[in-house]
Amino acid sequence: GGSKNDRDRGVNIQVILRCRPLNGDETKAHTPVAIFCNENKREVSAVQSLAHKQIDRTFVFDKVFSPASEQSGLFDRVVSPIVNEVLEGYNCTIFAYGQTGTGKTYTMEGGRLSKDGRFPDDAGVIPRAVRRVFEILDAQNAEYTMKVSFLELYNEELTDLLAPPDQESRHSDDRPKKPIALMEDGKGGVLVRGLEEETVTSASQIYRILEKGSSKRRTAETLLNKQSSRSHTIFSVTILLKECTPDGAEMFRCGKLNLVDLAGSENILRSGARDERAREAGEINKSLLTLGRVINTLVEHAPHIPYRDSKLTRLLRDSLGGKTKTCIIATISPSIHCLEETLSTLDYAHRAK
Ligand code: ADP
Ligand code: MG
Repeated sequence: GGSKNDRDRGVNIQVILRCRPLNGDETKAHTPVAIFCNENKREVSAVQSLAHKQIDRTFVFDKVFSPASEQSGLFDRVVSPIVNEVLEGYNCTIFAYGQTGTGKTYTMEGGRLSKDGRFPDDAGVIPRAVRRVFEILDAQNAEYTMKVSFLELYNEELTDLLAPPDQESRHSDDRPKKPIALMEDGKGGVLVRGLEEETVTSASQIYRILEKGSSKRRTAETLLNKQSSRSHTIFSVTILLKECTPDGAEMFRCGKLNLVDLAGSENILRSGARDERAREAGEINKSLLTLGRVINTLVEHAPHIPYRDSKLTRLLRDSLGGKTKTCIIATISPSIHCLEETLSTLDYAHRAK
């Protein structure tokens, strides 16, 4: 994880665990809880005792957020330090990883802007990060521009969620799309051709952009059965900061923050990485699998990092490994009925440490 030791070894990956509360239906049904969080000890325990099967396992993470945790607490303790790194000129990435329904989108996007235009208490990482950038840079009277892009990755195909509708071709049996090409820039990075970037001038503007992107994602969802649980969204914020050197020359500092809402991990976990047939049938999410491999090779300091094996890792290449910071927020449900998936998520997230 992101402990001092790892920093010394040059690995900047921290793994955060967040458990959502039981929802209304689960509470009404008196669903038993199988997950116990200890935020101070940074521990999560999975406990189930049945006559024929006993489970009692404890995992330690860099930080643990219990069902009672609030969006503001997670932002202050996890995201705010990362925003500072971005303003120092680092490229950083925050992933939400977990089973569908465990709070990935809640964590990343959170509640919508209320009708009176107030910033919601349950605002997630994306709006809070954007707001923080404005707060810091405006307080410094800095000269800067902030641009955002919003991409969806489904079945190794990229869609620009901010593309204007008139640029889309619609197929009756297909979802609206504007295909996007990835090209190597020859300097270790990747260029996204035809990508729409919006300049943001206020924090609340981010809600219009999120809404625009999400409504496009929703359209796609009705056309392709429950697609959103199998797709990734990548929200990227680029900040170009103008600075003056002591001798009066102008310089630009550039930092980038990628906020990634990953596909539901259940597809990959059930079919398993070794299931060749499922992989051929396209049932295994190549980008999710490759991301796991890239993170493992980074943690193990293996010489070859398989960035090129998926679109997601190619896209994030300049923000994963090397002089970058990565944070994985693993989300789980406390319900006893989700325990099997939860244990898979805990194992996966723990391996990334
Ligand atoms: P995912 O994106 O992982 O599929 P969602 O973010 O859509 O899951 O969450 C599923 C439901 O649970 C949503 O109704 C969401 O508002 C709620 N939820 C998730 N996490 C929390 C949380 N930490 N606190 C309160 N509600 C939550
Ligand atoms: Mg979601």
